[in-house]
This record gives sequence, structure tokens and C-alpha cells, in this order.
Amino acid sequence: MSIIVQKFGGTSVATATRILAAASRAVAAKRAGHQVVVVVSARGKKTDELIDLAREITDQPQPREMDMLLATGEQESVALFAMAVQKLGEPAISMTGGQIGVVTEASHTKARIRSISTERLKRHLGDGRIVIACGFQGVDDEGNITTLGRGGSDTTATALAAALAADECEIYTDVDGVYTTDPRIVPAARLVPRISYDEMLEMASLGAGVMHSRSIEFAKKFRVPLRVKPSYSQAAGTLIAPEGEDDSRVVTGLALARNEARVSLVDIPDRPGVMSLIFASMAAHKIPVDMVVQNVGAGGTAEVSFTVPESDLAETLTAAESAVKELGAGEVRSGTNVAKVSVVGSGMRTHTGVAAQMFQSLAEAGVNLEMITTSEIKISVLVARDKCDAALKAVHRGFNLDADTVAVPAVGVRQTNGGRPTVGQDELLKEVVGRLSHMEDIVVSEVQLDDSQARITIDDVPDRPGVCAQLLAAVAEGDVMVDMIVQNISDAGKSQISFTVPRDDLQRCLLLVREVLSAWTGAMLNYETEIAKLTVMGIGLRTHTGVGDRMFRALAAEIINVQMINTSEIRISVVVARDHGAAAHTCLLQTFGLHG
Ligand code: ADP
Ligand code: ASP
Ligand code: MG
Repeated sequence: MSIIVQKFGGTSVATATRILAAASRAVAAKRAGHQVVVVVSARGKKTDELIDLAREITDQPQPREMDMLLATGEQESVALFAMAVQKLGEPAISMTGGQIGVVTEASHTKARIRSISTERLKRHLGDGRIVIACGFQGVDDEGNITTLGRGGSDTTATALAAALAADECEIYTDVDGVYTTDPRIVPAARLVPRISYDEMLEMASLGAGVMHSRSIEFAKKFRVPLRVKPSYSQAAGTLIAPEGEDDSRVVTGLALARNEARVSLVDIPDRPGVMSLIFASMAAHKIPVDMVVQNVGAGGTAEVSFTVPESDLAETLTAAESAVKELGAGEVRSGTNVAKVSVVGSGMRTHTGVAAQMFQSLAEAGVNLEMITTSEIKISVLVARDKCDAALKAVHRGFNLDADTVAVPAVGVRQTNGGRPTVGQDELLKEVVGRLSHMEDIVVSEVQLDDSQARITIDDVPDRPGVCAQLLAAVAEGDVMVDMIVQNISDAGKSQISFTVPRDDLQRCLLLVREVLSAWTGAMLNYETEIAKLTVMGIGLRTHTGVGDRMFRALAAEIINVQMINTSEIRISVVVARDHGAAAHTCLLQTFGLHG
């Protein structure tokens, strides 16, 4: 018999009327012949209220007690939901995370799921009951209640769907589905009928609050068909599937992380091993870093900057201070008046000019770029927080994503034959997932070596809106496929941009860049033909902080210097000198237990 998992978010069970409406969906699915598992979140703003209540008592509640407290929100919901189903005439049973068999690691407030034992759950389903399960919670080996992190009920639902090999996992929420960006910030946002796992994973990880990013990791790893639907209507919502929509839009969606912080380690030694130390101290605190940029300063010193969620800043500063102490030199600086705007789309794999278009829209809106980083299917920029809503709207419109625009790509100079993940990659992934000892373990499926590119770096770029747009537009006009881009305004106020292009296009590209540079006083161009790019591929690579840590540790042990870094949930790439490429490839394969 087919199994369906339905998850209802807080707003969808906020009142008795809504609980009854949600329960009638579960009942309808059962009467249509399915076995039904329902996962429920705490009602309305319950979790926030519980957090506030704890804060009234202490600034530093113990994480174990916090989990004990927060788990009550979901417990209230499941009991009421079960009563509603029973009232509608179907047998139902409510269960806590522990009772449905969700075992997590022994860490509180951000615990990862290790396993789900489904025997008890299946017995109830077999007896004809609708099972109503608490989202967001589990127990550790000692039976302590743990929680999965804010928004974690999505993850419970997808993990249960994976463990039960469910036919579909339906996420009922307070919007019509996944939009091109948060419709509450950009009213012109458009519903996306279908989106790929990779795109949704990046969007969620970069700030699109509609889905918990870890739930998409489960969906991708275990191939769970996932649908996001409104709880208040019968609309079809959004299907999250292996492949997205096949339309002409290059960018699928935009995400905003409003509360970011930027941390810089300045005047640190410029030598191999520095990145390893920084990543190790962040990983030890489970802090996912993003937008990692290094600038080489004068006199053999370097500067490394990265972003973290502002809520992790205090812990980040402690970790960064200890890294600086260990390096024996340097200073830590930070700033909080920043937000991250990202564009995501599988189409970026194959189109030129995407970055140029994004930067152009931002320049027209008068928004200065404080940092830029890219990965295969995303581009992120850091902007002043008070400009982020305007920035989001401008980029959304620039890519013709507004609901009133037609699906004409704003870019699309050339379609290359570069591409989508191959069937071979799917097989690799399946094999790695099959070997996992815990459900939420990190998946690294491949390490790739690309030594066909060259790097261009421009120092002392003028610091004003529009310069990066001008530069990338010139390159796009030459039909050159730009791969990695990193830009940063250093602590000393100097802006540097580096990007990689196919080595065969380098000379053509240099001509285009020099033309732009002739109008920029003080800007200095340098380039390197002999680079190699190493890419570690997998799922959940950024949020599982251990991957970057292991990667940089392995490269440091081989005394390999890292020139550029890109991070995302599905790949982490580094640029090294070309003659280090083969050694770096071998050591990374070994680190992650893979064969070349
Ligand atoms: P639930 O309580 O059902 O889990 P959430 O509040 O966690 O609901 O997620 C739904 C909210 O996510 C929406 O109300 C919307 O404001 C926000 N959101 C952010 N980005 C997007 C997006 N790209 N598409 C749809 N909603 C989004
Ligand atoms: N109730 C939890 C929260 O508010 C989990 C969830 O809603 O997904 O974060
Ligand atoms: Mg949610």
C-alpha cells in the first residue's frame, strides 16, 4: 500500500479550525487508500514564545533544558491533531519523536538524525491508524530529548518519508509553494511549479526560509518526491525533484539572508595551513561559514574574510581569536550591517553573462558590492543591510522573474554544452548513500580536477557601484564563460576581484579587461595561466562544517597553498597552482575515501 507523509507548519495548525481543516486532508488521503503519516510543528508562534519565556528566566539556558522546553510545542499540536482526526471518524495516534524512533546524535538544539526505526510506526499504519508525529524532535542514545534546529519539522517529515520509502512527502505551509523569492518581500515573485533538489538546497541554505535546508539533503540523498503546497487551498504547489523546470529562465530563484555578519582576520601570515586553521576552529563550533575570500596583502601578510549568520557571531569571534592566537599574528575584525543576496539556477552551468546581469541590476539600484562569491549554480553578493530589499527587487526584475514579465532570459549570450549531472554521478551518489552508517552523515561522492582554466586578478578596483558590472559585462560580450568569481573590499578599503576563465579564452579576455581598466586609475591587472581547480562534490557540504575542515587540513598537510575558494552545499572548489593539481587530487580522494 502506498505511504504518504504530510507535514503541517505552525500557521497551518495555529487554531482549532485550522487543525480540523488539516486533519480532514489526512483523512481524505487515508480514504483515498493511502497509509498516512502526519508530521506537525508547534502551533503558530509557540516556539518563539517558549524561547522568550526561557529568556525571561536566564540569558544562558542549558541546551538540554531548552530542548525539553521547545519539544512541548510539537507535543501540544500532535495531541490536538489526533483528536481532530478521531473526531472526523478515523483512528489516529499521536507520537513524540522518541516514540516514532527518531534517534539523533547527543548534541542539543541542532542535533542531526542518526536513524529512524520504523517498526512501531508501521505497526500502527498496518492497524489502520493515521500516525501523527511530532516534528523537530528526537532522542539521543541516553533517551534525552533533542531538537533539530529551527524549522526542523521539514527535516523530520522528509527523513520519515525516506525511512518509510514513502510515495510522496507533502509540505503544507502558508504560501502557495516555492516562489522565485520570498513573496512577502517581493510581491511580484512568481510561483515555481518545479525546482531541482540542488537549486532548492542552495536556496534554502542561502536564506529562503520556506524549507529547512537539511530536509532537502534527505530528499536528494534518498530520492524523496517532495511537494510544497498551501494548506488553505487545493493548489498544486511546487514539486521538488531531481530535475527542475525546463524553461528558458537561467535563474530559478533568489534568496536573502538579512542577518549576516562579516568577519575578517587581517595581517595574518600568508602561508599554507592558514585556511585549515580557520576552518578547523569554525568546524569545532559547528559554525557554517560562507563567502570565504582571501586577499594577499603587502609584505607577506594576508587577509581572510568570510560571512556567518549574525546569531553565530559571538561564537565565531571566540573561534577566530583562538585561530589568530595559534597563527601567532593578526587581528580579528567584524561588521554586522550586511546582508547576503544570492541568485540560484541550474541554467548558470551553461550560460554566460549571468554575473554581469546581476551586477548590472545592482549598479542601477545604486547598491555597492562588498563581497562576491560564486559556485556552480549560485552567485552571492554581500550588500549593506538597509539596501538589501531594494537589491533583491532589482535583481529579481533584472532577470525577468517578476510575475508580469515573460520568460525571456536576461542573459543567454551563448548556450554552451557544459552540463547537467550525468547518470554516472547519480550512480556514484547512490553508492555513497548506501554506505552511510547514519542517515544524516556527510555525503562526498566525487573529487574533480580541472586544469583547463586560468585566473585573472585585478587589484585596487575602484570602490563604487557599477565597476564589477562593467568588468563582467565586457567579458560577457566576448562570450567568455566565467567560472569562479571572488571579490572583496579589504579591511583597508581596497577592492580586489579574481575570476577564472577557460585558458583558451585567456588572451581574448585580457584584451577585454585591459580596455575596461584603462579608465580605472590605479587598478592593477595580473593573471596566472597555470592553475588547477579541485572540486569536492556531495550534499550538505557547507552546513556540515567538517567537509571544509578536512579538505583544508589535507591540503595543508601536503603544503599546498589555496588561491581561491568557493563553497556551496553541493560543491567546495579551490584553486591551486597547476603543478600541485595532481597531488591535491590524490590527497583529497584519499581524505574522502574515494577512488580516482
Ligand atoms: P511553516 O511554518 O509552514 O514551516 P515557514 O514560515 O517556515 O512556514 O515557511 C513559509 C514562509 O517562507 C513563507 O511565509 C514565506 O514568507 C517564506 N519564504 C521565504 N522564501 C520563500 C520562497 N522562495 N518561496 C516561498 N516562501 C518563501
Ligand atoms: N517548531 C519549530 C520551529 O518553530 C520547528 C518547525 O516549525 O519546523 O522552529
Ligand atoms: Mg518552516
